[in-house]
Amino acid sequence: MKLWKRMGLNFVFVIIVCILITGFISNLMVDKKFDAYLYEQNKNTIEKIKELINEVYIDDTSISRSEERMIMEFCTMENLFIEIKNTNGDIIFSSGKEHIIQNKMMPMMGRNMMRKFKSEFLDEFTEEKYEIKNDNILLGEVTLGYYGASNITEKDIEFKETLIKSFAISMSIALIFGLGFSVFLSKQLTIPILEVNTAANEIRKGNFKVRSKSKTNTLELVQLSDSINYLAESLENQDMLRKRMTSDMAHEIRTPLTTLQNHIEAFLDGIWEPSKDKLESCHEEVLRLTKLVENLKNIASLEEASLNLNRIEFDLVEEAGKLVNLYEPQFNKKHIGVSYESNVESLNVFMDKDKIRQIIINLLSNSLRYTEEQGWVKIKIESVKENINIIVEDSGIGIPKEDIPYIFERFYRSDYSRDRATGATGIGLAITKALVIAHGGSIMVESEVNKGSKFIIVFPK
Ligand code: ADP
Repeated sequence: MKLWKRMGLNFVFVIIVCILITGFISNLMVDKKFDAYLYEQNKNTIEKIKELINEVYIDDTSISRSEERMIMEFCTMENLFIEIKNTNGDIIFSSGKEHIIQNKMMPMMGRNMMRKFKSEFLDEFTEEKYEIKNDNILLGEVTLGYYGASNITEKDIEFKETLIKSFAISMSIALIFGLGFSVFLSKQLTIPILEVNTAANEIRKGNFKVRSKSKTNTLELVQLSDSINYLAESLENQDMLRKRMTSDMAHEIRTPLTTLQNHIEAFLDGIWEPSKDKLESCHEEVLRLTKLVENLKNIASLEEASLNLNRIEFDLVEEAGKLVNLYEPQFNKKHIGVSYESNVESLNVFMDKDKIRQIIINLLSNSLRYTEEQGWVKIKIESVKENINIIVEDSGIGIPKEDIPYIFERFYRSDYSRDRATGATGIGLAITKALVIAHGGSIMVESEVNKGSKFIIVFPK
């Protein structure tokens, strides 16, 4: 079942249940109050008629014509049956019962709903007898008769009818409104989900460029949409990297192979003498290939890095200093100034010494590789509150903004470095990052083209 249908049905069910409960409870309350009101009215009327009869009868124990008319009028108005007897049992006055029934039947014609309602009042005929006394002397007897709350007027019935009608109307309005609203709301929720679904299907087909553009302000749906977009973006990047990596690898391998092939063919054809120079150049190409294969092996062992940390205690400040000294001649050769500083004299750490050395060497050799002559490179070890920072900064060629998110990926090389015959393979930073993460640290880079780069590694103490 579609979501909007399911939600719509649930909504309708809840609305109907709520309406029924509300209707039932309020009807019950109104009924109770109304009955109490009718009962009260009835009592008042009966008291009134009693007073009236006492007044006219006590004076001369008879009823004149005009008094008779007055009582009759009262009976008609209040739908009462009245019979007055003297002490001998003779009927002095009787209103008869016709007017009551007639009066009650009239408004019932053609009103089904009313009929049921009114019959409640017509069902039982109640008779009440009471004696007329003056100073404890019995003067006569009065019989009062009425159907249920016989004095119920047309207005009273109309009032109750209006109440029932207004309940019915408000129930219908609530139902229509609720139905409309539930369809609207469920559609509101469904549309973004459908959009995300469409995007997910596109991703499944391999179209990583697709993005879910659902416009919704429902937090969970926004998050869902963002997640799908993030997934698409990651897959797109991975796809791009994979393609780039394959072509890079092919290129890297093809170059030395072609050189070797050309050289060997030249030897075989007798064009070249296998002189020391030529053989050395072949050897270089073989070395390049070996390095490449070595790097591939490194990649394979990247994942294992985090598992195989051989932690020992050593002085990081001292170790970094040794590496700077080791590399200084190469920097000097390129006329690059190297400086090394630390905010502490010594810093004992419990880390994998070889891997930390490799991290620093990778960053140093990148700085050496990507910094022009007369540039500078700074290495800093910082011990701050809860962290140890290793910072390598240079005044080199910098990294284009669009490349920064990828430089830690395997085989990624910015076009800048690609253009240069640096002999780089685009794996150094991937290894560096894996080693940093294995130690629970993180690596960041700030860089600007033609200004320089700053690599910051943070290890928790
Ligand atoms: P590579 O073997 O190409 O140096 P890395 O993984 O070490 O591989 O670096 C990836 C890419 O990041 C490099 O190709 C280069 O474009 C860029 N890069 C790394 N370090 C620096 C730096 N210090 N200055 C400028 N660019 C750098």
